[in-house]
Amino acid sequence: MKTVELLGTKFISSPMEAFVQELNRRLISGQQTFVVTANPEIMMYTYKDPNYAQVLKHADYIIPDGIGVVMASKILKKPIESRLPGFDLMMHLLELATEKNYSVYFLGAKEEVIVKAVKQAAIQFPKLKIAGYHHGYIDFNDTSIIEEIRSKSPDIVLVGLGFPQQEMWIQNNRHVMEKGVFMGVGGSFDVLAG
Ligand code: UDP
Repeated sequence: MKTVELLGTKFISSPMEAFVQELNRRLISGQQTFVVTANPEIMMYTYKDPNYAQVLKHADYIIPDGIGVVMASKILKKPIESRLPGFDLMMHLLELATEKNYSVYFLGAKEEVIVKAVKQAAIQFPKLKIAGYHHGYIDFNDTSIIEEIRSKSPDIVLVGLGFPQQEMWIQNNRHVMEKGVFMGVGGSFDVLAG
């Protein structure tokens, strides 16, 4: 995958379709994958919190979520090919999962929001294999949710705890799982819930 380096971070510079196919290749080969959707707010935060900066170093792909990143890339004369909004990527992953029979776990948002979001996902993709879901107001030291997700062995885990928690959660817990694409989706469940 082509990347563009901006202020020390390598962003994916690719059209959405090609990036989704890249994730599909990783799913087929069973490689675990950590995707971060980054906007300028997230990039600035890495300067404040070295722990978070460290977590981002473990990401397999950092995608340019906000238009601000794409604009900055143009100003710095290292243009990123296209913006990859986190919400759009999440919807493309749901479509891919439906086509290829990959199971998806949804973690995050308020209880009523995640229930609605999962319902919406099932309406839009009736054949989607939903491994499970849980709201995001969890005790980060409580391992029962991680155990639940592990036992369901999902192919894709969407984590909407907001940044920086969602990336911290992914990096702290993904080693427990054998496989999976893990992606921080921010407030996307709220959008999907409508
Ligand atoms: N959230 C959560 N647990 C928390 C804090 C936040 O599940 O402890 C959820 C919140 O309900 C919302 C999302 O995380 O669905 C954060 O959305 P926001 O737009 O604030 O995050 P960003 O897109 O800026 O990362």
